[in-house]
Amino acid sequence: MIKPNIAAIIKDKIKRTQHGGDDIYVVGPVKLPVELDGETKIFHWYSWLRREAGEERSAERLVEDLNRISYADLQQSSVLVYGDFENNADALIRMHSICHTGDIFGSARCDCGFQLKQSMRIIAEHGSGALFYLANHEGRGIGLFSKALAYLLQEEGLDTVDANTELGFADDGRDYGEAIAVLKLLRRLPVSIITNNPRKVDALRSAGMNVAGRVPLWGNASVYNEKYLQTKMNRSGHFGMEPQKIVK
Ligand SMILES: [Zn+2]
Repeated sequence: MIKPNIAAIIKDKIKRTQHGGDDIYVVGPVKLPVELDGETKIFHWYSWLRREAGEERSAERLVEDLNRISYADLQQSSVLVYGDFENNADALIRMHSICHTGDIFGSARCDCGFQLKQSMRIIAEHGSGALFYLANHEGRGIGLFSKALAYLLQEEGLDTVDANTELGFADDGRDYGEAIAVLKLLRRLPVSIITNNPRKVDALRSAGMNVAGRVPLWGNASVYNEKYLQTKMNRSGHFGMEPQKIVK
């Protein structure tokens, strides 16, 4: 239960938007200093929570509305904002799908860890942008346990797409609607997206975002993820890799 004196502290940092008939509560910005290549960059961090729209909610008393819902989820998505994201004429975004093995442990089976850090560098160098970290996207939406199963199948020679479909999943079950709703809360002007994935560009455009450009993001290729990267291009329709040497 959030008491009135606590509500007074956080009331200006809670916003609410809607997606798919549900409410999305967004909390932030929280100042987040991040060390990037030996320099501390100040990012502004938001997290969000999706809940069925309640009948008792009020237009203004958002913090009080939090008392009517459970807000103790273990894993939620969030967004890391840099610079004047709302107003800068040319801001970058990245929709990054969570990857427990790549982002946290630095696994070389995929390129996620590299893409995460590189996106933060690109956004900080550019001067304004937002990196969405999408928590329900593990293993392209199949979850961590299923991803471990898929990795075992990949060790037997199946590629990323076949491993997922053999386990009964769609090749790519990721949905960006919720993140795009939060994006629209933070910015209305056009964005450029850091991605090689045309599905992400399409998802933004069909949700009414003006995508002014695309920044490719390839790198960290190695003998461990060569097949994974090739499958992205050959079977998942990713834009081609810029010519570069595969490090063996
Ligand atoms: Zn990964």
